[in-house]
Amino acid sequence: MTNTKYESLKNQMVEELFVLQGRKYTHELPESTELSNYDNHPADQATDLTDQVTEMAIEDHNDEQIEKLQAALQSIEDGSYGKCTVCGEDILHDRLEVMPTALTCVDHAPENKVPKDRPVEEEVLNASTEQPVNESRAIVDYEDSFQEVESYGSSDSPADQIE
Ligand SMILES: [Zn+2]
Repeated sequence: MTNTKYESLKNQMVEELFVLQGRKYTHELPESTELSNYDNHPADQATDLTDQVTEMAIEDHNDEQIEKLQAALQSIEDGSYGKCTVCGEDILHDRLEVMPTALTCVDHAPENKVPKDRPVEEEVLNASTEQPVNESRAIVDYEDSFQEVESYGSSDSPADQIE
């Protein structure tokens, strides 16, 4: 018995998978628009960085979508497609029309949850700073903080006292 109920969704997903995989293998990171950073305005460099970060985020999303498509197509093959993987209830056909890769009902939809992983941009942002911000270091005593800063010089030295 062949399941024709999801035939159009299956075709739709096969097509999308084909497009995404094609993009994945032909794709390269955009090249920097500048040969050197030496004489550049910081805004130019920022534009380059933004391009690369955006590109990486798209790439990340592509991989995710490819995995979802493969999982959904696999479940069509083994006949589990259209049923929620959490509670086993039928997934509404309207939901599948909108999101063919859905493997759960609306109640158990992972896309409704807050993602655990941090945005990919943060890796790049952290990597570019030479002095990472140490968030665990809180200012406990403002006097100590002043002494620490004072060691770099103050206007209170003997030389400053002479009038
Ligand atoms: Zn469910």
